[in-house]
Amino acid sequence: MQPPFGFLFDIDGVLVRGRTPIPAARKAFQKLLNSQRQFSVPVVFVTNAGNCLHQKKADQLSHVLGVPISQDQVIMSHSPLQMFKHYHDKHVLVSGQGPLLDIAKHLGFHQLITIDRLQEIYPLLDMIDHERRPKVLHTPAVELPKIEAIVLFGEPVRWETNLQLIIDVLLTSGYPGNPYSQSAYPHIPVLACNMDLMWMAEAQSPRFGHGTFMLCLENIYKKITGNELRYEALIGKPSEVTYHYAEYLIRMQAAAKQWKKPIRTLYAVGDNIMTDIYGANLYNRYLEENSRAGSKACVQAKAAGGTGSSTVSQEDDIDNPWESELASASATRCLSILVCTGVSNPHTEVPSDTRKSITETVFHGHRDFRFDPALVEPDHVVTDVDAAVDLIFQLENFAPDENRRTP
Ligand SMILES: [Mg+2]
Repeated sequence: MQPPFGFLFDIDGVLVRGRTPIPAARKAFQKLLNSQRQFSVPVVFVTNAGNCLHQKKADQLSHVLGVPISQDQVIMSHSPLQMFKHYHDKHVLVSGQGPLLDIAKHLGFHQLITIDRLQEIYPLLDMIDHERRPKVLHTPAVELPKIEAIVLFGEPVRWETNLQLIIDVLLTSGYPGNPYSQSAYPHIPVLACNMDLMWMAEAQSPRFGHGTFMLCLENIYKKITGNELRYEALIGKPSEVTYHYAEYLIRMQAAAKQWKKPIRTLYAVGDNIMTDIYGANLYNRYLEENSRAGSKACVQAKAAGGTGSSTVSQEDDIDNPWESELASASATRCLSILVCTGVSNPHTEVPSDTRKSITETVFHGHRDFRFDPALVEPDHVVTDVDAAVDLIFQLENFAPDENRRTP
């Protein structure tokens, strides 16, 4: 039986909490395999985590779920940066933690500098930690070429260092050894992955995510300069570009199995209303408009769904083969399924008065994504991921593997 649908699974709060597997996950995944232990439905994992390589994430998932997962099934917040070829040749400052340089090189970047290296070259910049202040004052031995763009991969450690040095790079147009300049606005491009304000680990309450770091950066920049920090692109859920990429990978999986039926429906299973539900609903809106227009709308590799006020359009940069691949989606809809094992408690009402919700700052979405009540409403709410798989098989009237013998 060939499925006309595919799955997008979020990881944290759906399959695991921190390093601890959620019990329903293993059960759910046994249902997705055929008797040869291959997936009987296309499956991708879409996570906003980003501090490791695809292969490592795939290995972790294989271990947790007890099923073989390949790295082509894993989309992390930074994965769509592969499409931003325009930046791959630029001198880029990267912020985050983990094997950042390896991750960035895998994506195609090759002129990279880390915050740590910048701090070494310009030891006078990072003054917060008294222990790290330079003992001897000297002028930098290395003359750095202009930093042309900044990529925020994920939350760093020692935030004060990253905040200070990123502000320095922005306010000096990429020459952090220079004094601040009035003419540094609009600033050099900033691309950011993963806008999640918070995420769910083992603790009882949510933990700070990269979105919290970005919030700090945006506010410091605004306070110091009076101007808005602008993002060239916002990548990771709920940005459309991430869902285009997921749809593409699902289509490739179906093609590899020589399934002839087009994949029409995507089911996005997640625990975060502002990330998983908003993103799936936003992409669904795109698919609906796309099929209504009857034409292949140009994929805008930008933070689609953003208000656009502070996000720069990327249209000029999409001159690569991805454009046609991503624009020819076979999916016509993307349904959102909320599970109750993670960060969002569906029993907490989202305020219907949107202005009230914004002024009371309960809107946990990113600044450049407008609050829209229709986008935070899941199509289905279920207890856990196992219930989600059961529901979807039932909705699709799908028998996973007729040949499978029950033990
Ligand atoms: Mg999650």
